[in-house]
Amino acid sequence: MAKILAITNQKGGVGKTTTSVNLAASLEAAKRRVLLIDLDPQGNATMGSGVDKSGLQHTVYQALLGSRSMAEVRILSTSGKFDLIPANRELAGAEIEMVDLPQRETRLKAALQEMESEYEFILIDCPPALNLLTLNGLCAANAVMIPMQCEYYALEGLSDLVNTIKKVRANLNPTLEIEGLLRTMFDPRNILAQQVSDQLQQHFGEKVYRTVIPRNVRLAEAPSFGIPALYHDKLSKGTQAYLALAGEMLNRHYPSIEPGQHDHEQKL
Ligand code: ADP
Ligand code: MG
Repeated sequence: MAKILAITNQKGGVGKTTTSVNLAASLEAAKRRVLLIDLDPQGNATMGSGVDKSGLQHTVYQALLGSRSMAEVRILSTSGKFDLIPANRELAGAEIEMVDLPQRETRLKAALQEMESEYEFILIDCPPALNLLTLNGLCAANAVMIPMQCEYYALEGLSDLVNTIKKVRANLNPTLEIEGLLRTMFDPRNILAQQVSDQLQQHFGEKVYRTVIPRNVRLAEAPSFGIPALYHDKLSKGTQAYLALAGEMLNRHYPSIEPGQHDHEQKL
């Protein structure tokens, strides 16, 4: 069964899209079959994967509304990279249009069923809001990854998100779990960041990934080339951190493999 991860945080600019695109590329580099779903009308994950969002006739929007199948809107990789379900601004309309449709929270889940078995990992890049699109992401997923910046207000937003996840679990998706919290854009010289990071670990323990994503200019500039940082500068600290995150995840999901067999595992 595919591991379906909703990459979510209702705050914008915390690294959701950067994580979605670079984790997809890193899992692909580890020879896993990966599908990336862009669920944000901003279409940043689509652009960051090298697909021009403005020229698209069919996107996840049609799949959610039921006028196209998921296979019809999917962009299959031609160069051995991950496959993509793209999005563009049209998706903003789905918020309103889905309200009156039956099973409005589980439309992504239903649409995804036809291709779930083709992949080992399906990553869903959620929009920066706890809205109906994000709810669809949470209902389609079996786990949630929460990227976050270690700053003062981060913890406040986190309790809202955790409460939403609890409600989804109680009402819509009983097996949904928090896979992990990912510290992004981390600057170890920043004392506040260290303090927030400590608090996170006290609260969430093992749920905090050991891998930390540093602030790294290569991660920020890769989208302007329409490629994951892995294809832009493989040796950069940012690229290496996402490869390490993929290694950490694979060790979690395939525990029969001895730790250390994944090249990129790193410890804090
Ligand atoms: P979100 O999807 O949560 O809104 P993004 O992934 O788009 O966040 O990141 C917000 C901005 O920060 C983008 O300009 C992105 O390039 C930049 N960014 C994300 N992660 C890093 C990082 N680790 N180092 C430097 N810049 C980053
Ligand atoms: Mg984003």
